[in-house]
Amino acid sequence: MTRTTPPRPLDVAAEFPDLAGLTRRATRLHPRPGEPTVHDSSVGGPLLWPTEEPWPAYTPAYRPYGPLTTLADIRTRRSLLTHAWARPRGPRENLLTKQEQEIIDRISTGYAPELMPEGPLPLIPVAQFYARDIAGLPCPEGTDMLQVLWAPFEEIEGCSEAVQLRWRLSSDVREILVEAPEPAYVDQSDHVPAPCVLHPEEVREFPPPHVLDEEQQSRLRAWAEARSVDYWSDLSVAPGWKLGGWPAHFTFRDPADSDELHCGECGGPVEALLTVDSSEWDGASGSWRPLEDADEKNHHPYRNAHDPTLVTVGRGYTLQIYSCVTTPSHLPRTIMQ
Ligand SMILES: [Zn+2]
Repeated sequence: MTRTTPPRPLDVAAEFPDLAGLTRRATRLHPRPGEPTVHDSSVGGPLLWPTEEPWPAYTPAYRPYGPLTTLADIRTRRSLLTHAWARPRGPRENLLTKQEQEIIDRISTGYAPELMPEGPLPLIPVAQFYARDIAGLPCPEGTDMLQVLWAPFEEIEGCSEAVQLRWRLSSDVREILVEAPEPAYVDQSDHVPAPCVLHPEEVREFPPPHVLDEEQQSRLRAWAEARSVDYWSDLSVAPGWKLGGWPAHFTFRDPADSDELHCGECGGPVEALLTVDSSEWDGASGSWRPLEDADEKNHHPYRNAHDPTLVTVGRGYTLQIYSCVTTPSHLPRTIMQ
């Protein structure tokens, strides 16, 4: 099923022709729970990986404090909660059976860091995109897909081997890796995306306030406010997981300047590539909720259309992944916004 963003409540370009040139196309990914294969575009799904290519790994800068968990435990917990929420329940009945509660309790206790091996840990798949599914995917010449991997730890911000990109030509992959290596432990279960299939949709965005000058900002804000619309949440940048377009809003911190916003390898300019969001919309940005999901939230309290990937960045922020403009294979710059 496709996903359709409702029309924006006001037409910025019609009212302010001088801003019409500042529009960008973004692709909302609309991830939803599913069982993607290596041949699908996905969030949290398996990657099309050649057997002969080493799987990327990362050595944490410090030993985590713990308690730690494992991918197996995270999958068990999520599957158990999915089934529990899906079954009918009487008014006084607990969500979980006694046996299920014991499993959840054991998983929540976790493991002491001393029990876990030292050394490099394989990254986990975050997302995979085929150009055939996403018209605006900025593929470097000779490639037709993008893969994003990261380490399920706290340290996904900055520019390091904790977050990596692979641009490749899918037809180059002759022997497909069947079982990807997995890290022995996970430090941050909120950074493990649950498998989702995508329903890409192109939308038009206007710049987030932090890239506009003061005069433009106040003009837009006043015009929208007089019509009971909020430029920030309704008219500028789409919420949720997306590719391309304008970078996400800076919410809890000052916007990044050129001291921070550059390629960590060559120092050159970077541009917004992938936005990882903690929810697909929130109370403020509800006008972006797809028409098809109008009352979905009432029916599925767990892993619904609003929160399909189960990824949370910080306190519900976004992780904006920027890529090097001149050499897209460079390590990306990531900023929590
Ligand atoms: Zn670079």
